[in-house]
Amino acid sequence: MTNPATRAATPAPRAEVVVDLDAIAANTAVLRERVGRPLMAVVKADGYGHGLVPAARAVLAGGADMLGVALLDEALALRAAGIRAPLLAWLHNPGTDFAPALDADVEVSVNAEWGLAEVVAGARATGRPARLHLFVDTGLSREGATMADWPGLVSAAVRAQAEGHVTVVGLWSHMAYADAPTHPTIGAQVRVFDEAVAVARSAGLTDARLHLANSAATVALPETWYDMVRPGVALYGLDPLGGNAADHGLRPAMTVRAGVALVKRVRAGVGVSYGHTYAPERETTLALVPVGYADGVPRAAGNRAPVLVGGARRTIAGRVCMDQFVLDVGDAPVAAGDEVVLWGPGDRGEPTAQDWADAVDTIHYELVTRIGGRFTRRYVGSAGAV
Ligand SMILES: *Cc1c(COP(=O)(O)O)cnc(C)c1O
Repeated sequence: MTNPATRAATPAPRAEVVVDLDAIAANTAVLRERVGRPLMAVVKADGYGHGLVPAARAVLAGGADMLGVALLDEALALRAAGIRAPLLAWLHNPGTDFAPALDADVEVSVNAEWGLAEVVAGARATGRPARLHLFVDTGLSREGATMADWPGLVSAAVRAQAEGHVTVVGLWSHMAYADAPTHPTIGAQVRVFDEAVAVARSAGLTDARLHLANSAATVALPETWYDMVRPGVALYGLDPLGGNAADHGLRPAMTVRAGVALVKRVRAGVGVSYGHTYAPERETTLALVPVGYADGVPRAAGNRAPVLVGGARRTIAGRVCMDQFVLDVGDAPVAAGDEVVLWGPGDRGEPTAQDWADAVDTIHYELVTRIGGRFTRRYVGSAGAV
C-alpha cells in the first residue's frame, strides 16, 4: 500500500465561512427593484449566519429601507455598531424593559395588551413615544394576536396613541405557506389580513404601514406586497422556494470551506468513523476534514451530504463526529491542506446549501444559521464595508 501522506504547498484554512458582501447587496437591490416599494431587510439570527453587522451594512448598501430583527438585543447590537437605519424588533418576553430600545430609536412590535402595557411603561420612563407595529395572526398560529384578541389590542393601542405613548406605524402579519405559491392558505391569510387592517383603520389607525411578505412572498406573490416587503433568506441568495436562486437573479453569499487535515491510504473493507457505517470497497485514500457537528455540520450529513474536493464531488464517508468527518477520495491525488468546499454559490461545481438541505432533509435556513462553532468568518466584497 502506498502512503500518499503529502501536504499541499499552500494549505487551505482549517475551517472558514466566506461571506460575499457584494452578493448580499446585489440580492437586496434585485428584490428592492422588483417590488418597487420599501424593503425591510431581515438580519436576525446573526444575519442568517452571515454576521449581523456586516450583513446589515451590506443590505443597506444594496438599498434596504429598514432592518428587521427578532430580538431587542439584536437591535441594540446594531445600534452599538453605529447603524442608524430604521429598525424593528418583534419578539419580546414578559418583563422586557423597552426603555433602552426606545432610547435607541428601535421600533417594536406587540401582539398582546400586556406587551403594549410594557411598551407604554418604557415610553413613560424615557419620555419617548414608541414607534409601534401591531402583529396579527392571519393563519400561521404563531406570534400574532388572534382575530378574537385583535380588536382589544387595537383599542388599547389607539388609547396609548392618544395619550402620546405610542405611534402605530405598522400593521403586520406573517405567512404560513408562501413557499407553495398556489396554496389556498395564501388567499385566506390575505383576506384575514385585510379584515384586520379594516378593524384597525376604522378604529383610527390610518397611517400605519402594512407588511406581510417574507422572502417567498416577495419572490412569488405580488398580492402580498402591500406597503413594504420583509425578506430575509433571499437577501443571502438562497431561493425561498427551494429551487435555483439564479432563476430569481439571486446569488448565494456564503461559502463554507475547510482544509484537509490528513490523508491516508487504507485497505478495502476498513470501517470508517464511529460505528463503522462506511467501508470502502477497494483500497482507497481517506481524507480527514476537521469540522463536525459542534461547528454546525449536521450529524445527519454522514453518508449523505456532498462536498467538493480535488475537483470532484464526494459524499461524506461514515458518521460526522463532533470535530471532524472523513471523505473517501478514491485514488484522487488529494493532499493534506487541500480545500474541501461544503457549500457555496455552485460556480466551481461545489454543492449549494440547497443541495445539503436536500441531502440531510432540512432547509437551507437551518444550515446557514447553524454553521459556526469554530469556523472563522472572512468577508469578501466591499458593500457596506467601513
Ligand atoms: C424571519 C422572518 C421573516 C423573514 O423570513 P424569510 O423567509 O427568511 O424571508 C419575516 N418576517 C418574520 C416575522 C420573520 O420571523
